[in-house]
Amino acid sequence: MENKVITVTSPLLPSLDDFLPYMQDIWDRKWLTNNGYYHQELEKSLCEYLKVPYISLFTNGTLPLICALQALRITGEVITTPYSFVATTHSLWWNGIKPVFVDIDPMTCNIDPDKIEAAITPKTTAIMAVHVYGKPCDMERIQAIADKYGLKVIYDAAHAFGVEVNGKSILEAGDISTLSFHATKVYNTIEGGALVCHDENTKKRIDYLKNFGFAGETTIIAPGINGKMDEVRAAYGLLNLKQVSAAIESRHQVAVRYREALREIPGIHVMEDMLGVRHNYSYFPIFVDAERYGMSRDELYFKMKESNVLGRRYFYPLISEFSTYRGLESAKPEYLPVAHKVADSVICLPMHHALSPDDMNLILSIIKNK
Ligand SMILES: *Cc1c(COP(=O)(O)O)cnc(C)c1O
Repeated sequence: MENKVITVTSPLLPSLDDFLPYMQDIWDRKWLTNNGYYHQELEKSLCEYLKVPYISLFTNGTLPLICALQALRITGEVITTPYSFVATTHSLWWNGIKPVFVDIDPMTCNIDPDKIEAAITPKTTAIMAVHVYGKPCDMERIQAIADKYGLKVIYDAAHAFGVEVNGKSILEAGDISTLSFHATKVYNTIEGGALVCHDENTKKRIDYLKNFGFAGETTIIAPGINGKMDEVRAAYGLLNLKQVSAAIESRHQVAVRYREALREIPGIHVMEDMLGVRHNYSYFPIFVDAERYGMSRDELYFKMKESNVLGRRYFYPLISEFSTYRGLESAKPEYLPVAHKVADSVICLPMHHALSPDDMNLILSIIKNK
């Protein structure tokens, strides 16, 4: 292959031979969507795999965020992080909620619990936090603040598929957590997502909301939306679930290899594993200290690109810098110094289950021989 390009990720795909009989079965059943057989099977299997009692499948990872806010009747202002994928904040915007950005913790890149209380106003109704790169937020402290002020907590867990702390799923934290099963994520259903809640009533309400609000043939309980996952992607998801643990282990090996090589390079900072955490190695961010490394983040990023190594600057620019949000008081850079510093220094290296040792060698040699 000429001009081989090393991409930041590569999708986990089930084998086509395994997939075809499932398709034949769907063709035979002629039931394509609306809580079909494979949809129900995938919800059951995901509950088991993720160790959670209630899960609702969605057609992507953005609609569960939007529906979570609807289900919890969140209004006014929500405290959130500028260091995430834009969908996190867009879900607030689509609900007419004002996002209030709070700076991040430089160690985890997650919202800094020390800075949350100062951002609370009488209009605050919830905290929307993100387990960035699948690294768990400080869930205990966030819950303590939420309890003190009577706030709901929603976790955007799009990066955190399968992540556990001391054997417990992090999806148990807060009132609702959401997942994305987009093709670029650790576990994918091509497009897809899910919402995790903690009681049957909420699950029921969510399932109504994702189906236009229908609670029966003629009953609409709320202005719902269409967020349903179809049978084809549910079947694909069942097959992918069987190989996701092995894929996470392959990612783990990549992370070990990367870290061993990169720890020794002055000016390159990597994230280490956290005690008691089962990580999913969804991303491999490095942080470039231009002065110590002798080259800026962007210089390294474009140098990699010249060699067909496509890292990604996740998350640059910050959400608070986009035109929709930058006029907000809380979006001012002076309130978000850590987030800006991190966003200006990060590159996510190629990280996936099938990254070859040769590709890793090439990537590492570019970073070493600057
Ligand atoms: C991928 C992602 C989403 C959105 O998921 P989609 O399935 O692409 O709609 C939301 N939040 C974060 C943090 C993400 O990385």
